[in-house]
Parts: sequence; C-alpha cells; structure tokens
Amino acid sequence: MVVPIFINFSIVLERVKSHKKRNIIMSILWGISILFCMSFPVNLGQNVRLDLRIVPLILGSLYGGFWSSIFLSALIIAYRLYSGFGIGFYNTVLVLLLSIPVILIFQKYFARAEKRKRVKIAVGLSLYYCFIGFIIFIILRGFSIEYAGVQIIQLIFGAIATWFFIMLYETLIEINHIRTELQNAEKLKVISELTSVFAHEIRNPMQVARGFLQLLDEPDLPNGKKEYIQISLEELDRANEIINDFLAFGKPVINNNERMEVGYQLQRVAKILQSYSLNHNVQIKTDIVEDCWIFANGQKFNQSLINIVKNAIESMPNGGMVWITCTPTNDGFINISIKDQGIGMTKEQMDRLGYPFYSLKESGTGLGMMVSYQIIRSFKGKIKVKSEKDKGTEFIILFPKIN
Ligand code: ADP
Ligand code: MG
Repeated sequence: MVVPIFINFSIVLERVKSHKKRNIIMSILWGISILFCMSFPVNLGQNVRLDLRIVPLILGSLYGGFWSSIFLSALIIAYRLYSGFGIGFYNTVLVLLLSIPVILIFQKYFARAEKRKRVKIAVGLSLYYCFIGFIIFIILRGFSIEYAGVQIIQLIFGAIATWFFIMLYETLIEINHIRTELQNAEKLKVISELTSVFAHEIRNPMQVARGFLQLLDEPDLPNGKKEYIQISLEELDRANEIINDFLAFGKPVINNNERMEVGYQLQRVAKILQSYSLNHNVQIKTDIVEDCWIFANGQKFNQSLINIVKNAIESMPNGGMVWITCTPTNDGFINISIKDQGIGMTKEQMDRLGYPFYSLKESGTGLGMMVSYQIIRSFKGKIKVKSEKDKGTEFIILFPKIN
C-alpha cells in the first residue's frame, strides 16, 4: 500500500504529464497492491480471513475516478474467482456491488473537497464497506459470535488503516503543492527583479521622446501628420502604463501594513473609478458594512481593487452594473465581493488569471490581475472567482479580520 503512494509522488507526478497515463499507471499499482492484500490475509480459523484490500480499493477509486474503480473491482472479482468458486465468491461480489456505486457517488464530492473532508469521506466509505461485508456475511452464513468478533476487528482495522493512508497521501499532496509554488515564486522573483531595473531605464528616454513629440505638434500641421503624432503619443502612454504595472509588480513587498478600514477604502476606489465607469455606461453600486478592519496597506489595497473593478467595468462593453460589497463572515474573515454582468470567463480562462501577459483585450497588458493577486496574497487574503460565460463574473476576496 505504501509503494504506490511513494511511486506516485516520487516518479509519476514528476515524469508523467498526461492525466490519463497517470491514472492508468496508478490503477495498475493499486491493482498490484490489492493482489498482495488478498494473497496474504490474516487467517483467523476456518474460512475466516482478514485483509486490507479496502485501502487500495478506496484510495485507487477516490483518486482515480470511475474507470480505476471499475478496474479494481473487476480485478478483485477475477482474483477471487481464481482462488475458488464458492460462498466466499458470492460474498465478495455482493459487497462490491453494494459499495462501488456509493464510493462512486462520493468520489465526485471527494474530488472537490479539501483535506479534512477527504479524510472523513474515505474513512466513512471504509466503515460502510466493512459494515456491508458484515451484513452480507451474516445473511450468507448465519450469525455467530465468533464471526461477528472477526468482522468488528476488520471494521476497526480497516478504518484505521484507511485513515492512516489517506492522511499520508494528502500530506504528500500538500508538500508537493508547496514545492511547486516555491519554484514558481523563485522564477517570478528573478523576472521581477530584472524587469524593474530595465523598466526604469527605458522610461527616461521615453519621456524625452514624448516631450519632443509634443513640441512637434504645432497647430498648422496637416491633419495626417497630426494624427501620426497623436498615435505616437498614445502608444508611448500605453508603453508607460505597462511599465507602471510592471514596476508595481517588481517592487519588493515591504510590509508596512497597518490597521485599515475596508469600507472607507472601497468607497475611495468607487470614487476614483467614477468617471471611468460613466464613460463605459456602467454604474457602480456599493453595499458596505462599516467597521471592518484588516491588516493591510491602504495604497496597495486600493491598487489591487482598482485593477479588479476596472476589469469588471471593461467586461461590459454595452454598459451595466458593478456591485461592490463588503461583509464580515462568521468564521473571522472580511468578505469583499466585486460582481459584474459582463462577458464572463470559461473555466480555462479562469485558471489562467493572475499569470503575467494573459489578456484577451486588444490593448490589454495582462498584468493587472497578476499585480492584484500578488498584493492580496501579501495581505494573507484569498481570492475566489465565480464566472459564467456571457452571464458575469464575481471576484470574492477574503481577508482575515482584526478587531
Ligand atoms: P488586462 O485587463 O490588461 O487584459 P488583466 O490582468 O487585468 O489584464 O486581466 C486579464 C484578463 O482576465 C482580461 O483580459 C480578461 O480577459 C479577464 N478578466 C479579468 N476580469 C474579468 C471580468 N470581470 N470579466 C471577464 N473577464 C475578465
Ligand atoms: Mg485589467
């Protein structure tokens, strides 16, 4: 049971990129594990055996999904058939028939759940499997104290083993996650240090060029040439904007955080973007609970929120509404929501949010969200995005509340 787990984290996750191939390899490994479990049970008297096949079956099914689950069940049945056709065989088949559908139903929740829930689901399923085994055993062979005792041992032992291995698996997932995040952060750090140096150096000559262009722009110039100058100025401004975004990103995150009232800052954000939203035919509605305090830096907080609200405004080319709300939650967070009725995003687009240069706009920089995400994370905030294509998008930001 340990071998598949370690092969998964030391080799499969690193080397095998395709999801399908990973699943196949892992199913085979869990299959081997099941064969071992069934081949070396603990014999407790005649016809009474204890084994832990439930652990590889549950782990393989929950992490692998439908086909892994079917494969592993088929393997168990085939192997049981090979070792003899009898009452034990029916027992095995019946237990699987009654438990695999339940495992598959919970697999859907499992895939989405976080660690604590996953452990509960796995242990619950293990108990259920052993319990069904117990019931069918009684139906097929009648009740006896001796059998009941063995089955109860199986129940407890199965649950403990499942708990242990699911914890091991989940902990390794966490470690693996942290490791990749660290690698990404390291890469971004190098990029941002380099670019901030370059950006500064590029800005100065650009300012000079812009100044001279403005001087060239005389009233008696023919219209065509005036237009060229206008375009040049606009493009220079755009380049300057990109550099600004970049500099904001490259700035070292000095933690000059302080107590900050969220409502006040949100009102300011709404005010700053008022004329911008009017130009886009968009109305900003706020619903803010007062006296929500977090530990952050006002200026950076504003910048990150402005980027998000600006995107919300830009997502509605024909105008509409943006709602900005702020409420404290029961579990100690401040919940800020920015909701629009714009073009929305597909799942794929949402996954790419926050990465540099991801933009679907003609004149977008694809840096705004990256900066926002970076700032929000530096305040220990969490970001959730809900979006539906052509319906709208909601950004939910959670900050730890302070008193
Ligand atoms: P930019 O705004 O310069 O394109 P951002 O980093 O701010 O760059 O945003 C990246 C992309 O994310 C946008 O181009 C857009 O496709 C998508 N996006 C962000 N917010 C929204 C939103 N509220 N509705 C729809 N799409 C959005
Ligand atoms: Mg933007």
